This record gives sequence, structure tokens and C-alpha cells, in this order.
Amino acid sequence: MGFVLGFLGACLGIVAGVGIIVAVIYIKVRSVVGPANMKELAEVAKNAKNIEQQEYMREKNVGGITKLIEPVIIRDFGDFNKDFLFSKVEKNLIKIFTAIECKSIDEIKNDDDLIYMYSTIRDKIKDIKDNNVNIKYDDVQFHAHAIKDYSKSDGKATITLSSTLEYYYSNDSDKHAEKKFAGLKKQTRYTTQFVYVYDETKFKYNQKAITISCPNCGAPLNKLGAGNCQYCGTYIKPINLKGWYMVSYKEDYK
Ligand SMILES: [Zn+2]
Repeated sequence: MGFVLGFLGACLGIVAGVGIIVAVIYIKVRSVVGPANMKELAEVAKNAKNIEQQEYMREKNVGGITKLIEPVIIRDFGDFNKDFLFSKVEKNLIKIFTAIECKSIDEIKNDDDLIYMYSTIRDKIKDIKDNNVNIKYDDVQFHAHAIKDYSKSDGKATITLSSTLEYYYSNDSDKHAEKKFAGLKKQTRYTTQFVYVYDETKFKYNQKAITISCPNCGAPLNKLGAGNCQYCGTYIKPINLKGWYMVSYKEDYK
């Protein structure tokens, strides 16, 4: 009995203590800003939230200079078709979002379009699995695409693209954002990169941006041609190098 009373007393003491501290802070702030401005302060906080929500729903602009860069790419690759690449962005991102939602790498494993993306997505899925996070992308719709950059080095050409899209996003590890943006459709932008290996003799494997992994054991492969994984022996089908393959994607929401 005495213990229970003591415990309740201690709880009451803590509540009273916290209450006093809050009251003191409130009186201090009030005395500095004035009672009339207190209401305004609350309004400011509310407005900041509204501004964040409006920005969340504002359709973003693609950051690109397609008209300038496209002719330069066509000079190097006569059959370059930007619309084909833009459609690949959409298909690949949808596949990646689906894999993240389902927390499964199975569909990505043998997908030739995502051969350079396998290890990145595998690591991402492992991370969300380890942390028991659930991510959802609902009603994905793309708006526009643009070419942002083009460069050539080490036997490979790289195109950077900017794409705008919208979706209902949910990530249950961020309760604060979940509450703030509940029911709102996110307008966002992604930056993706595609690589074309045009000279395999100059192309260095396992460059930081590009790692190709065995779909069975995940070991990095040091050859793109047909053969067997040097670790687990799995047969690796040959990859048609003469094509544009996605090497990275990044949300670019500002
Ligand atoms: Zn292997």
C-alpha cells in the first residue's frame, strides 16, 4: 500500500513538475511577444504547415535542356530515340517501386533492363526488410521528361534525365510525415542515369556507379559476356551491350 501511494506520489510530482515548467515557459514567451502576438505565433506555425502541404502538391518542373543536348547525342548515336528512353524511365521506376512495395527482388533479378540496378535495389530492399519498414507508391502518374546532361568517358556514354511524376506515398517509419501529408498526392521529380557501353575494352568494371552482380549469389561480376559466375557457377546469359541501361535513380524533391 505504502509503495503504491509512494509511486502515485512520485508520478503526481513529475506531472506537476512538467506542468510548472510548461507554464513558466508559456508566461516567459508571452511576456516577451505579448499576449496579442501569441495567437499570431500559433498562426505562423499553422501557415508553415500549410505551405509545406502546398509545396507537396505543387507540380514540379523538369530540370533539363533536351533541345540542346539531343543533337549532340544523335551525332554519336544515330539511332538515338529520346521517347524510347523516356518510356524506359517510366517502366523501370514502376518496376523498382513495385519491388520496394513487395520487398521482393525476384522480378528484378532476371530483368535485362535493370542489369546495372540489381545490387542497388537488392541493398535497398534488404535495408527496409531489416528495419521492418513498409513503403507504398499508389496511383503513379508521370508528367514530363527532359534530358539534363550527356557525357562520355572510359568507353561509356552517360545520359542524365529529369522526370516529373505524382503518387500517393506512404512510409510507416516516418509517422510525422504520414500525419502531415495524409491523403495528399505527392508531386515530385526523379533524376535517372542511363549508360551505353560503346567500347568494352576501355570500360572498367565495378566502377563506383556501375556494379553488375550475379542474380543468384549477388557476387560482383567482372565480365558482361556469357559465362558462369566465378563464385557460385550460375550461368550468366550474355547481355546486349549495345543499348542504354539505367544505372541510377534518385528522387529530386526540393
Ligand atoms: Zn553467383
